Amino acid sequence: MSHIFPRHCHATPPTASHGEGCFLIDTDGKRYFDGSGGAAVSCLGHSNDRVRRAIKDQVDQLAFAHTGFFTSDPAEQLADLLIANAPGDLDRVYLVSGGSEATESAIKLARQYFTERGEPQRRHLIARRQSYHGNTLGALSAGGNAWRRAQFAPLLIEVSHIAPCYDYMGRAEGESPEAYGQRAAQELEDEILRLGPDTVMAFMAEPVVGATMGAVPAAPGYFNRIREICDRYGVLLILDEVMCGMGRTGHLFACEAETVVPDILCIAKGLGAGYQPIGAMLCTRAIYDTIAGGTGFFQHGHTYLGHPVAAAAGLAVLRELLDNDLVAQVRARGAYLEQRLHERFAQHPHVGDIRGRGLFWGMEFVADRDSKTPFDPRLGLAGRLKKAAFAEGLICYPMSGTRDGQLGDHVLLAPPFIATEAELDGAIDTLSRALDKVM
Ligand code: PLP
Repeated sequence: MSHIFPRHCHATPPTASHGEGCFLIDTDGKRYFDGSGGAAVSCLGHSNDRVRRAIKDQVDQLAFAHTGFFTSDPAEQLADLLIANAPGDLDRVYLVSGGSEATESAIKLARQYFTERGEPQRRHLIARRQSYHGNTLGALSAGGNAWRRAQFAPLLIEVSHIAPCYDYMGRAEGESPEAYGQRAAQELEDEILRLGPDTVMAFMAEPVVGATMGAVPAAPGYFNRIREICDRYGVLLILDEVMCGMGRTGHLFACEAETVVPDILCIAKGLGAGYQPIGAMLCTRAIYDTIAGGTGFFQHGHTYLGHPVAAAAGLAVLRELLDNDLVAQVRARGAYLEQRLHERFAQHPHVGDIRGRGLFWGMEFVADRDSKTPFDPRLGLAGRLKKAAFAEGLICYPMSGTRDGQLGDHVLLAPPFIATEAELDGAIDTLSRALDKVM
């Protein structure tokens, strides 16, 4: 009997044995193409030599030194390289162990920024429905997914949620994508005015929405307008690129496609590429200087801040992306994946929408394409699709949103950046067979 406490108590997953390129292999020798990088994590596949070597060397050199006493070379170098490649005036890096720690830190940094500025009345956070920002209580409060929040609701902090920018379901007939983007962004201004502009501290959003919607980019101009609104009312813009950052969308940082620079940027998943648990929160010089020039102490921290081995892994991942221009490869392979998804699925009677950017793609399934009616959630379509694909050797990331009555079933694809065209073709064939089995 296992003593592991798994999330799915009655699941009996195979035992992963090792990784080879884009494949995971179980102890029976069965191979699985990692078509979603787990959950958009494994951007370099599972056997990258440079990252593995960097980790081994770092453990031999220095495994751990608490940041209450020391800094370390890999943490300093990773921060420098991130900032050298980050947009705008992002200037400081806070290294944590994962995505929820990054977003939780961002919320607390926003709050402390305003208390240090002598504006303690700024306490409201605004985020969007159908978003996911992590599972710790602050991050879960920011997320808008009703199903994930439901049983913890009494423990959550107060966060206002506005509509996401969701072209497929949100744009009115005859409305241009640009006009829709302005209309969706206007909800932020309306909410700031409703709450009282001098009480709002931050707005948090994913540039390309991942887990809860399936790779949904915003309409053109949406984030420019969001930035303007934040600036007008002195509200901080926090972008959560935990899933869509680190090259995944064909830019090192997803916000670059929007020509918008946030005040605080969160990354994780692809930063460690699965080799080590690591995340980061980047912030502007203005925010850092406010804390440094005030109490001089960010009142938030974790034991494993700036962990040297995790930082060494993150540094090797970032160097691998930059030295091999893998972000350009993401754009090229992404264009190929987009074309193949459209060829194979655009006419499928139950595929309502195909959307994404770079190597981050989602397909939304509907019972009826004309009315965009979602499937009955009791069908458990997403779960059955995941099982069918996995049985055929494909790891993909289906989600059923209809459990909370918010949106339909979708599947997310986020393959490693090193995937070949032939491997992507194979994944599409497998997904197609799996779809045939469940629909
Ligand atoms: N933010 C986003 C956008 C995510 O997709 C996730 C995880 O899926 C998180 C935050 C939380 O990250 P983690 O699971 O590493 O805590």
